[in-house]
Amino acid sequence: MRNTIFRLDEPRNEAVRAYAPGAPERAALERRLAAMGRESVEIGCWVNGREVLTGEVHEVRAPHDHGLRLGRWHAATPEVVQEALAGARAAWREWSQTPYDVRLAVFLKAAELLAGPWRDTVNAATMLGQSKTCYQAEIDAACELVDFWRINCWLAHAKVYADQPMSPPGQWNHLDHRPLEGFVYAVTPFNFTSIGGNLPTAPAIMGNVALWKPSSAAVFSNYQVMRVLHEAGLPPGVIQFIPGSPRAITAQLLSQPDFAGVHYTGSTAVFNGLWKQIAQGLDGYRSYPRIVGETGGKDFIFVHPSADVTAVSVAAVRGAFEYQGQKCSAASRMYVPRSLWRALRDDLVARTESLAMGDPAEFRNFLCAVIHEQAFEEIRGYVEKARHGARILCGGDADRTQGWFIRPTIVECEDPGFVTMREEIFGPVLSVHVYEDARLDEALTACDEGSPYGLTGAVFAQDRLAVEAMARRLRHAAGNFYINDKPTGAVVNQQPFGGARASGTDDKAGGVQNLLRWVAPRTVKETFLPPHDHRYPHQQDGQVEGGPGGRGRVSRT
Ligand code: NAD
Repeated sequence: MRNTIFRLDEPRNEAVRAYAPGAPERAALERRLAAMGRESVEIGCWVNGREVLTGEVHEVRAPHDHGLRLGRWHAATPEVVQEALAGARAAWREWSQTPYDVRLAVFLKAAELLAGPWRDTVNAATMLGQSKTCYQAEIDAACELVDFWRINCWLAHAKVYADQPMSPPGQWNHLDHRPLEGFVYAVTPFNFTSIGGNLPTAPAIMGNVALWKPSSAAVFSNYQVMRVLHEAGLPPGVIQFIPGSPRAITAQLLSQPDFAGVHYTGSTAVFNGLWKQIAQGLDGYRSYPRIVGETGGKDFIFVHPSADVTAVSVAAVRGAFEYQGQKCSAASRMYVPRSLWRALRDDLVARTESLAMGDPAEFRNFLCAVIHEQAFEEIRGYVEKARHGARILCGGDADRTQGWFIRPTIVECEDPGFVTMREEIFGPVLSVHVYEDARLDEALTACDEGSPYGLTGAVFAQDRLAVEAMARRLRHAAGNFYINDKPTGAVVNQQPFGGARASGTDDKAGGVQNLLRWVAPRTVKETFLPPHDHRYPHQQDGQVEGGPGGRGRVSRT
C-alpha cells in the first residue's frame, strides 16, 4: 500500500483549436477526415475487453452524403448482453475495491490520449458520422470530453472523497464513498460524442461498472471513444459497449436484481418510459436504483426593450442554428418587443440567409445535415405546420437528394402558444413571438409557462434592473440561465449543465451533483475508548464510574 494523499490540482479547460486556414491542426484534421472517409470500419460490441462481431450488422452512412459508407456496426444479441452482464459483475468485485487514485489514473490518461494522439480521429468520426462542422466537433468530442474526464476526476478527489465529517475528541468518523452495489446502465444520445463518453465513465470514475448502450446514430464516434478508454488501461468489463436494439437491451438489463442505476440523456418520452419500467421492476431490485436523466428542451431567448439588437441577432443565429439546432440547449423560441422587431428581424434574416450549409469537410460551412431520415421528416412536418399556422420569414426548404439538409428557418408566430413555440423540434427552426412593449409581463408569463421544459434560456437587456426582474420571473424556467449570451455552449466546471421540469433530474453533468448520484456513502464511526458501564449518569446514586478517558461519558444512540 502507498502512504500517499494524492495532490490533484483543479484542471484548466482544454483549449479549443481554431482550425483557421493555414493552421497545422486544420491540415492534420483534413488528412484524418479523408482517411476515415475511405476506411469503412467494422465496429463491434466491446465486451470484457475485446471486440465482439455478432453478425447482426447495420450500415453507417454520413448524414450529409448518402453515398458515403463509413462502415458497419454489429448489434449486441441477448447472448452478448448476458455475457456483458456476467463480465461486469466479475469486474465489479475488483474495480469497486480498487484504490481511487488507480481508477482516476485511467481516466486522466484517457484525457491525455484524447487531447493528443486521438483528437483528430474522434473529431473526424464526429464530423463524418454525426455531421458536425470542425468547430462543433472540437468543442464536443475533443474539448468537452477531455474536460469531463479531467474535471470529474478532480471533483471526485477534491469534492467527494475529501468531504468528511468532523470527529470530536475520542472518536474518528469518516465517509466511505462506496460505489453502488450493482451495475449502471448508460443510455446516450446521438448529438454529443462527449455525452456518450461521459455517461458510462462518470459512474466508473466513482468505482462503478457500466453497460453503455450508445445511440445507433452515433456508434461511429462512440466506438472510437471506447478504443481510447481501452488504450488508457480500463480493465476488461468495467465499461461494456453494447450498441443494439434499445427496447430489447433495456428490457434485459432492467430485469436484473443488481440493476443499480440509469444514467440517461435523450428525449423526455424515452426517459419517462425508462422511469415507468424501473418503477414496475422495483420489488425485484436489491437497492433503490439511481435515476439520472437529462432530457429535452424548448430553450428561449427573451429580449427586453433595452437589449442590444446586434448581440441578440448573433446569439440567435449561433444559438438556434449551430449543429442544425440539434442541441438540447438550442434556442428554439424567442420573445421580442415590438419596438425592436423590425431592426432585429432584418438583421437576423440577413445573417440566417447568408449561412453556408453543406459537407463538414468543407470548413467554410456553418451548418451541415440533420442526423437521419426520421429527424428530417419530423422537422419538415413542423415546417409544414408553420407554413399554414404562422409566417415563415426565411428558410423552410429541405433537400434530401444527397443528404438530410434543411435550411435554417425562422418562423414568426402571432400565437405564443403555437405548436412550434411549444414543442421540442430538434432542428434548425427558430420561432419568434413579437410582444407589445407594454405587455412585457404577459410575455414573461408566456415564456415561463409556454412549454413543459426547463433546460436553458437567455435574457437580453442593457437595463440591469430589468435583467434582475426577468431572472426572478424566469427562475424555474431554465436550469442554465444566460444573461446577454446565447443559451448554448455550457463549459464543464464553468456552467454545470442540466435543467428541471420535463428537462430532467437536474443532476448537472460535469458537476459534483452528478458524481454524488453514483455513490452510496457508508458512515464509519470509530470510538477509541468504548464505555465499560451500561448505566447513564442520571441513573446512578453516587459518582459516575469511569473517570479519565471518558469511559463513564454519556453516549447518544
Ligand atoms: P432519443 O430519445 O431518440 O434516444 C436517446 C437514447 O435512448 C438512445 O440511446 C436511444 O437508442 C435510446 N432509446 C430510444 N428508445 C428507447 C427505448 N424505448 N428504451 C430505451 N432506450 C431507448 O434521443 P436522441 O435523438 O438521441 O437525442 C436527442 C434528444 O436528447 C433531444 O430530446 C435532446 O433534447 C436530448 N438531449 C438532452 C440533453 C440534456 O443534457 N438535457 C443533451 C443532449 C440531448
